[in-house]
Amino acid sequence: MTTPPVAGTIVAVSETFYDVIVVGAGPGGATTAWKCAERGLRVLLLDRAAQLPRYKPCGGGIPASLATHVSGFEESERFADLSVTHLRHSWKGKDTVLAEMTTESGAPAHVWMVQRAHFDAWLVERAQAAGATVRTGVKVSDVAVSGETITVSTATGETFAARHVVGADGAKGIVGARVGLRLGKRWGIAREAEIPFETNAGGDNRFHADLHPGAAYLDYGSVPNGYAWIFPKRGFLSVGAGMLLPKKPAENEENNVGQVLRRAIDTMLASVGQTFPEGMDAPRIWGHPIPFWTGAEPLATADNRVLLVGDAAGVVQPMFGEGIQYAIRTGDVAADCLASGTVGEYTNRVRALFADEFDAALRIGKMFYRTPFLSYKLGVKNPAGTKLVGRLMAGEAHLHDLEQRIYERLRNPLKRKG
Ligand SMILES: Cc1cc2nc3c(=O)[nH]c(=O)nc-3n(C[C@H](O)[C@H](O)[C@H](O)COP(=O)(O)OP(=O)(O)OC[C@H]3O[C@@H](n4cnc5c(N)ncnc54)[C@H](O)[C@@H]3O)c2cc1C
Repeated sequence: MTTPPVAGTIVAVSETFYDVIVVGAGPGGATTAWKCAERGLRVLLLDRAAQLPRYKPCGGGIPASLATHVSGFEESERFADLSVTHLRHSWKGKDTVLAEMTTESGAPAHVWMVQRAHFDAWLVERAQAAGATVRTGVKVSDVAVSGETITVSTATGETFAARHVVGADGAKGIVGARVGLRLGKRWGIAREAEIPFETNAGGDNRFHADLHPGAAYLDYGSVPNGYAWIFPKRGFLSVGAGMLLPKKPAENEENNVGQVLRRAIDTMLASVGQTFPEGMDAPRIWGHPIPFWTGAEPLATADNRVLLVGDAAGVVQPMFGEGIQYAIRTGDVAADCLASGTVGEYTNRVRALFADEFDAALRIGKMFYRTPFLSYKLGVKNPAGTKLVGRLMAGEAHLHDLEQRIYERLRNPLKRKG
């Protein structure tokens, strides 16, 4: 609960002393603020965006199994546009396979399609309703620990004080850098555009001969170390491409990477009979870094005063670049640690939840992207593979199960089932 600064600490601060200041109001920060406020902590949530909702380049795909991990996500119609139950895979726009995702019991496995502007604003509303104070247009420029007080300074000279700070400021966040966390971080890169799209006048709601709003589309082979996607939303398609396993950061910042991703987006659109709308040029295609999971670094400072969540903590599944559910889940764990006075356990709790899965994803990803054509033919198009994806999305299987299956197949290539 709220405790005043230790007497004698001299800092220029706002009048309120917070239990927690959360920097960044994306899924990670908004969830941290929501769950901390629910637990009775005095919370300030800051974002540099002038106002919310704000756009964030993102496909907006979230496995519905998130609701089994974090409370409050039961009514998906409040935050999701659509819910897909099929994946349509292709190799360079061709050789397609449409697969239904199902759970072990045969029920459809759902992946929510959220518009990030709407979804993030919905989360911030949850935080506000639980009692968090929210300020936008506040760009944090420094974080300094002095005795019992952490001072957060902004680009415009404002200061705020708290006992704890949570860095939820995304892939290139500054909070971690200011307190010596995630110093050697590396990124993949992705580009994304939102293409207006009306369902056809016939009213059957179909996008393309073999596709429908219940399917998300993934294309392999056009992007080295990555893939392209189309995630349907109401009234538009989120189309993008990403390179996920960087060799070194500089390579991914070269212009030709942007062009490779742009060509992959064009191929993806063409494969469903679409083109970039007239007049919609490169600036409307947003580039954004995707942090690279290493699992090696601590996610809180040694004095347990500053924690990182979501992209700022590098908690992104490294094979597909999926990060929303992990931002939310690390935010939930961070809030629990803050409210129960167990911040010292935070890094280990995050590792216990995700390290096995992410390490397996990294190994599978390296194998997959090194031999993408073979992986596509033998893995993605294999009915057992598509079945497993359904289990993964339903949270009933783990990537280390998939890794196990791959090694079994390599040991015994003639085995047809398993
Ligand atoms: C093109 C693309 C497509 C993607 N598609 C998917 C997908 O389909 N599914 C999925 O699960 N993941 C996807 N991801 C990853 C996903 O977008 C991220 O993992 C997710 O946004 C992480 O949430 P976060 O809250 O940690 O950070 P963010 O969403 O990046 O939020 C960080 C917030 O911090 C604020 N901020 C930054 N610096 C400061 C500062 N100095 N002061 C104050 N505020 C600051 C920003 O304004 C922002 O609001 C995609 C990523 C990219 C790039």
